[in-house]
Amino acid sequence: MNNAQSIPTIENAVADILAAIGEDPQRPGLRETPKRVAEMYRELFSGLGHDPAEELQVSFEVEHQDLVLLKAIPFYSMCEHHLIPFFGAASVAYLPKGRVVGVSKIVRALEVLAHRPQLQERLTAQMADALHTSLGALGVGVLLRAEHLCMSMRGVSKPGIQVVTSAWRGTFSQESSIQREILAQLGGIA
Ligand SMILES: [Zn+2]
Repeated sequence: MNNAQSIPTIENAVADILAAIGEDPQRPGLRETPKRVAEMYRELFSGLGHDPAEELQVSFEVEHQDLVLLKAIPFYSMCEHHLIPFFGAASVAYLPKGRVVGVSKIVRALEVLAHRPQLQERLTAQMADALHTSLGALGVGVLLRAEHLCMSMRGVSKPGIQVVTSAWRGTFSQESSIQREILAQLGGIA
């Protein structure tokens, strides 16, 4: 969300929601809430309009072709069906084709993709595609584990369920032995 004009629109919408649920948006505790929510949304949805490839542009050459693995990067995203968070940890593995990026860049690419209305499955696939396309990595694997508040605090109301998604690209998509090895290094699916 890059358009500063949209902040007042969100403020009005939040005030409308408060009124619609039977609250008084003018009472002291709620008076600043639409403004706070609008500011928060600007942060939570800051990945909209950005391409994760922008974060992966600066790479450097390496001679080796050994596996690079980032384990359990914490992330927070917003379920696009309910607009409440799902959150957990992402692990990323890739086999470079002569180029690697700084690990902080991988974390930033994930942030770009997580800071928008999302589905865990799509976040996983988009992260794998970004690494595969931008880095030209020979093989990519992305594994996400997350808890969805839309399952924990409403609906089936079952906290603690971990949803695990994975996406494999390049050579990793065909080689189940590599997938098994990566999953073993990450401590398995469970
Ligand atoms: Zn949901």
